[in-house]
Amino acid sequence: MTTTIKEALQVRIEEVERRVVAACELSGRSREELNIIAVTKYVSLETAQAAHQLGLRHLGENRWQDAKEKWEAISGSAMGEDGGQAVWHFIGSLQTNKVKDVIGKFTYIHSLDRLSLAQAIDKRASQLGLTVPCFVQVNVSGEQSKHGLDPEQLPAFLEELKELSSLRIIGLMTMAPYETEAEETRPIFRSLRKLRDEMNERAILPESMTELSMGMSGDFEVAIEEGATWIRLGTILVGKEG
Ligand SMILES: *Cc1c(COP(=O)(O)O)cnc(C)c1O
Repeated sequence: MTTTIKEALQVRIEEVERRVVAACELSGRSREELNIIAVTKYVSLETAQAAHQLGLRHLGENRWQDAKEKWEAISGSAMGEDGGQAVWHFIGSLQTNKVKDVIGKFTYIHSLDRLSLAQAIDKRASQLGLTVPCFVQVNVSGEQSKHGLDPEQLPAFLEELKELSSLRIIGLMTMAPYETEAEETRPIFRSLRKLRDEMNERAILPESMTELSMGMSGDFEVAIEEGATWIRLGTILVGKEG
């Protein structure tokens, strides 16, 4: 492990932390309400390992084929400071035939967007004796290229999920368009929060959804101001290689 990778990472981590704390203060939120997922999909195994060793506990990947090597190398190893182990988040669109690879390795699923996928996860989780915390992905921006449910479909979808006892629906996830100015993403994040609150008021699920997975490198401060509880940071936090 070259020290330069670690040194450069440490600088990034501190800079991001400083901005996260500032955004929390600005919006009167406590830093403890917010979790950072280090998205390692653009970086090498070496960089991902360094990130973990420097104390980034939550790691996110969006394709099992690309994540496999990192998962195998990192998952069993102890983390820097407190020796904790990595917690993996699956953030990309998940094919039903990959569910068997992912469930049991990735703790959280951020991309639940259809019933067939929910059923496959539920089946696999119950075989393994697990309950899987999931975010329902919603396409708030309405962009054609984005995955996720139409907001109008959400109540009926949640209703169907009630039957699946090995899933725990903890919140909603969305992606804002990449190219937009950070400030332009505000209505998208605000809508996701309103949607979550509305679903909770209607009490469709037995348990309220407490979480919001929103905000990436270009717009995380706005997402924090709008109530994100999980931000997913790749480029700005661990970098982009190759
Ligand atoms: C790649 C990715 C991210 C991280 O993107 P950056 O802009 O590099 O921070 C976050 N969420 C999802 C779903 C992604 O696919």
